[in-house]
Amino acid sequence: MTTAILEYHSKAEIDQTVLTVQQTFKSGYTRPLKFRRHQLEQLWRLIDENTDALCDVLYKDLRKPQYEATLCEMIIVKEEINDALVHLEEWAKDERTAPSFVNRVGTTCLKRKEPKGAVLLIAPWNYPVYLAFAPLVGAIAAGCTAVMKPSELTPNSAKLIAELMPRYLDNKAFMVVNGGAPETTQLLDHKWDHIFYTGNGTIAKIIMKAAAKHLTSVTLELGGKSPVIIDENTNMAVVAKRIAFGKALNAGQTCVAPDYILITAKAEEKFVPALKQAFLEMYGADPQTSKDYGRIVNARHFKRLCNVLMENKSGDVVIGGQADENDLFIAPTVIANVERDDKLMEEEIFGPLLPLIRVTDIDDAIEFINSKDEPLVLYIFSNNKKLVNKVLDSTRSGGVLVNDTLMHISEGTLPFGGTGASGMGSYHGKSSFDTFTHVRSTMIKGLSPVLESAMGLRYAPYTARSLSM
Ligand code: NAD
Repeated sequence: MTTAILEYHSKAEIDQTVLTVQQTFKSGYTRPLKFRRHQLEQLWRLIDENTDALCDVLYKDLRKPQYEATLCEMIIVKEEINDALVHLEEWAKDERTAPSFVNRVGTTCLKRKEPKGAVLLIAPWNYPVYLAFAPLVGAIAAGCTAVMKPSELTPNSAKLIAELMPRYLDNKAFMVVNGGAPETTQLLDHKWDHIFYTGNGTIAKIIMKAAAKHLTSVTLELGGKSPVIIDENTNMAVVAKRIAFGKALNAGQTCVAPDYILITAKAEEKFVPALKQAFLEMYGADPQTSKDYGRIVNARHFKRLCNVLMENKSGDVVIGGQADENDLFIAPTVIANVERDDKLMEEEIFGPLLPLIRVTDIDDAIEFINSKDEPLVLYIFSNNKKLVNKVLDSTRSGGVLVNDTLMHISEGTLPFGGTGASGMGSYHGKSSFDTFTHVRSTMIKGLSPVLESAMGLRYAPYTARSLSM
């Protein structure tokens, strides 16, 4: 099948691609660290030498501003690559463990870091470059081969990725398949050594079911409704700026965008004007004319967001509210005093709409969070350590960020991932390497007669011996 922009791979091409990466892995070709290092350097060059072209397709697909695309898609992948290049030998080397009493004599214990094998990477549309390449960094570093399936919803990016990959990377080891649900279903029919999926929870269940057929391990990087708690006694101007940044980036189409805010009536009085000011400073009085504000990915998602707003019965639009279907534009829009069971609170918003939910106090906020699925991230704005610790001790989430939004994504020393409905497994930095690595426990014994006599006690007949515990 073909869209106007993107040519989908045929059934025969898909089967051949899978066979190629499986055979390449079995040949041992991708295991040497020298090969991995070279491929990582090549991926770095792919991004570096094509930054303008990548910015161009991201603009076509999402009206992503060049600055935002460079920062949040290109630089962030290059940082992942740099990190892998610096630490590759350290991550990949065997780890010795000290044998316990039973095996103390004549025994070596090792944790060998072995590549999982031929892996499938399925990417979504919201950060089409970053979310396609960041998992690939881990797969390359670990010594795997990979097939990458970019999202068909950002066809310009998917097309360019498919053109660039064979020009820079080894095309027997790292290949692209383009297509939609039928092509991905065909890919999923094959036996993979690991599947790494980023996207929504509904499709994640399909991925997991397909993986279960072959007992294949999965990493599921999903989304959910990430809440924000705002303490009354904070610097609201700074809080508002940081929240405006996290919500308006990529027009709210970010897996870790603040989804809703839990706030007391007293804090709301200071927060709403501060947030209005922050959006004004960032995008001007008419964000539609701002060069720094993105668009909704397509008409389906535009309508979905408008319907959520229209079907939401409670609350008042206190900031924004403008939308233009022809331009797929929705302004950063804040709805105050939304009821807890209204439409905006049902599904992950994944757009620039921000409901404020009134709470009476921190216990009320905690209780509300715990009544929902575990979010991908929980944001807390407070200078009060006791309050922060109370929230940490009594809630669950994939990650936590105190006094900022989104920035934990850029921290390679922290694993990034969800829990429960927001996903399983993690990546970034060493976690990416670990995700695509099988730790093969290896015990090596000597065969000397001295050792044999020490170990002889385990052999039958047992009759003349007694065991004391
Ligand atoms: P999407 O529609 O692009 O789908 C993701 C991938 O699944 C695509 O490659 C698509 O082709 C494939 N797919 C679609 N239907 C399929 C089917 N029936 N069978 C097999 N594969 C299929 O993206 P999306 O799901 O709309 O992405 C948005 C979601 O992803 C949000 O929930 C967001 O929070 C989440 N997300 C999570 C992260 C993270 O790192 N945790 C990052 C980005 C997005």
